[in-house]
Amino acid sequence: MRGEKREDTHKHKGQRKELIDSLRKKGITDENVLTAMMEVPRHFFFDKDLEHIAYEDRAFPIAADQTISQPYTVAFQTQLLKIKPKDKVLEIGTGSTYQASVLAAMGTRVFTIERQKELFDLTLNYPLKDKYPRSVLTFIFGDGFEGMPGQAPFDKIIITCGAPFIPPKLLDQLKPGGLMVIPVEMDEHHKMLRITKNADGTYEEEAFSDFSFVPMLPGTNR
Ligand code: SAH
Repeated sequence: MRGEKREDTHKHKGQRKELIDSLRKKGITDENVLTAMMEVPRHFFFDKDLEHIAYEDRAFPIAADQTISQPYTVAFQTQLLKIKPKDKVLEIGTGSTYQASVLAAMGTRVFTIERQKELFDLTLNYPLKDKYPRSVLTFIFGDGFEGMPGQAPFDKIIITCGAPFIPPKLLDQLKPGGLMVIPVEMDEHHKMLRITKNADGTYEEEAFSDFSFVPMLPGTNR
């Protein structure tokens, strides 16, 4: 799957354009998010024989029993982050590297943590390594509950797995004025929350709609 040369044909671009239009109809308004998602060929993150479903608006299984998030979810979370070029972003849950690539396409500096060794090892040969090199996209094998204190503080933090609570160490690693977007477990679903860290270190919380994510689990899995 990964590493082999993949083509982004006229047909793929057409399918991607239709997906982007459908996201706009579903309420995504940040044109920078939509442009970035137009730029990243989602089918590169799928096995070749499955690429026909890459432009459907649905999540899909990847290795290690995890999933590549639904395009709408990627768009929604990224929009909530109010991304600016040069933002330093921490992602928890690398998975397929799709979300991280969308962030890189927006001109950010991305650090992304994955707890599944199998998925982390696949990042050795991530699909867009020529376009977004390791100088802008850094992969870390570790436990997202710990964050990345050595690189903190971050302008933005995005959690792409369902968290049981807001991890305090991640809050600590957010810049004053920074934003964290995190789905938190609530009654069988995950409530999308956006946390704003104030200059005095206090936090504001906004709640959005419900989503379903794979769980955020403690520790690492070799
Ligand atoms: N952002 C990914 C979505 C992957 S699904 C993409 O674009 O494809 C969520 C990922 O979070 C899974 O790969 C899962 O292994 C990972 N995860 C769960 N708990 C974690 C933790 N504590 N630290 C880091 N990653 C975690």
